[in-house]
Amino acid sequence: MLKHKVAVVTGSTSGIGLGIARQLAAAGADLMINGFGDAAEIEALRAELASTYGVRVAYNGADLSVATEATGLIANTVRELGSVDVLVNNAGIQYVSPVQEFPLERWDAVIAINLTAVFLTTRAALPIMHERKWGRIINIASVHGLVASADKSAYVAAKHGVVGLSKTVALETAGSGITCNAICPGWVLTPLVQKQIDTLAVKENLSPEEAKTKLLSEKQPSLQFATPEQLGGLAIFLCSDAAAQITGIALPMDGGWLAR
Ligand code: NAD
Repeated sequence: MLKHKVAVVTGSTSGIGLGIARQLAAAGADLMINGFGDAAEIEALRAELASTYGVRVAYNGADLSVATEATGLIANTVRELGSVDVLVNNAGIQYVSPVQEFPLERWDAVIAINLTAVFLTTRAALPIMHERKWGRIINIASVHGLVASADKSAYVAAKHGVVGLSKTVALETAGSGITCNAICPGWVLTPLVQKQIDTLAVKENLSPEEAKTKLLSEKQPSLQFATPEQLGGLAIFLCSDAAAQITGIALPMDGGWLAR
C-alpha cells in the first residue's frame, strides 16, 4: 500500500514509534527513523528494519527540543529518501509533579518536544505534501489530549495542544489530498509508562505486577495495555484510501478510558 512513499516517524527507536515504524515498513514505505539511544543498537535496528521489510531505512538523531533540528529532520529526509509522504509525530516525554512544584525547565522541555516539535515538522513537511497532492500527518497525542490527570500539567497542556493543532492543520489542508489526525492512546506498556509503574511500586510498596494492575485499574477498564502493534495498525488504516475523508479527528485507543 505504501510502496514509493516515504514515512518519517519521530521517536521511533523505542515503544509506540517503533511499533508504528515497523508496520509502515511492512506496508512498503521507506523510513526515516529518529530518536535517542545507543548508536550501535540504533544502527542494528536500522539494518534489521531494512532487511526484514526490503525498504530503505535511514536514521536521523535530531533532538526535537531544538527547533533547527526538528526542521532539519524533514529537510534531511527529503535529501536522503526523496520525499516526506507520511509524517508520524510520536516523540514525547512525561514529567509528573503538582503544578506548584513543577520546574519551569521541565515544563519547557515537555512543551518543546510534545507540542512545538509537532508544529515545526508539520510546517516543514506541508509544502512537500502539497507538491505531491497527498500526505498523511498522524500525531500521537494521548487520552490526555482529551481529558486530564492530576500532576501531568505540562503533558496534558501539550497533548490538548496537539489535538487542537491537528484540527487546524486538517482545516488548512482539507480537500488537498492531505489528512491530519491525532491518535489518543490510553496506557501502552513502553519505557515511558514502565517508569511510572516503577515509581508507583516504590511509593506504595507494591510488586511490579501489583503496580501494573493498580495503574490500569485506575483508568483503563479493559485492564489491558494497548500495544505498539495495535497503534501501528491504526496508523496504517489512517494512511489507507478508506481513511481519505477522515481528517481533524482525535481517535482514542484506550481500553474504555474515556467511556467512564
Ligand atoms: P518511549 O519513551 O518508549 O519513546 C519515546 C521516543 O521518543 C524514544 O524513541 C525517544 O528516544 C524519543 N525522544 C524523546 N525525546 C526526544 C527528543 N528530544 N528528540 C527526539 N526524540 C526524542 O515512549 P512511548 O510510550 O512510546 O511514547 C510515544 C508517544 O506516545 C509519546 O508522544 C507519548 O506521549 C505518547 N503516548 C504514550 C502512551 C503510553 O501509555 N505509553 C499513552 C499515550 C500517549
